Amino acid sequence: MANDAGMTKPEMRNAPACGLGRAQNGTDGGDSSFGLRASFVIRLSSFVIPSPAACREWLEALLGLCYPAVCQICAARRCTPEDGFVCQRCYERVRFIRPPFCERCGLPYPGDLTAPFECANCRELELHFHFARSAVAAKSVVLEVIHRYKYQGHLWFEPFLAGLLVRSAATTLAREHWDWLVPVPLHPTKEREREFNQAARLAARLAAASGIPSNLRLLRRVKATRTQTLLSRSERAENMHDAFVSRAGVKLHGERIVVVDDVFTTGATTSACARALRLAGASEVGVWTLARGL
Ligand SMILES: [Zn+2]
Ligand SMILES: [Zn+2]
Repeated sequence: MANDAGMTKPEMRNAPACGLGRAQNGTDGGDSSFGLRASFVIRLSSFVIPSPAACREWLEALLGLCYPAVCQICAARRCTPEDGFVCQRCYERVRFIRPPFCERCGLPYPGDLTAPFECANCRELELHFHFARSAVAAKSVVLEVIHRYKYQGHLWFEPFLAGLLVRSAATTLAREHWDWLVPVPLHPTKEREREFNQAARLAARLAAASGIPSNLRLLRRVKATRTQTLLSRSERAENMHDAFVSRAGVKLHGERIVVVDDVFTTGATTSACARALRLAGASEVGVWTLARGL
């Protein structure tokens, strides 16, 4: 199921335009296995002509010797495709979210807390998830990378982004024995435009690291919501309220589910997902996102 992660034809964008990075195997589900099969068939049929995939690998290895990959943020230091083309120095600018934070929405609290704390926003809003946590602050390098990943299709950043989420969430989630990860669905029209669902791709990586399967068959986005950037907190909640439904025939029996998304802003989107999952019969819905607006 994790391999169904909305991955249509993004493999061409797994390395920067200069072609200095190698494509990331294992991120493109059926496409990459097709590539392997094709390669195998061609090798069987001829010992002389290498497959296109092999040619590409050799070419990239050769280019890598002549032009080592550089960080796609600072363009100054070396990095690797496994780093997601972000160097160590730029990585150090990432701000991980650490306790103390709001028990409900994960908003960090500057200072010490001696008792469980729920922020003013959570007290005002009706949130349908039990808790939300985020790996890093949606600031500086993280914000830039997410923007380029989502809106410009710079998929070579994925190991960097997914690595942040996995580092923060995988061990905890594995220990807590959740039933499924459920990425926030895109509306079909938007998914056709973008050609991939970033939440599904991040969830697939988190599933691989935590051992909790990603399930794309529970939720459906039925409302193509307009951009939320200029909306107030309550307008966002209103805008998203009925944006998601469980798919026809889905009947849950008290499963415990973690909704996965790239960015948490007010919680309106993930709360609407949690609402639909709980209406379908989930007993507990938590949220993990890669980044959080502060
Ligand atoms: Zn850098
Ligand atoms: Zn809160």
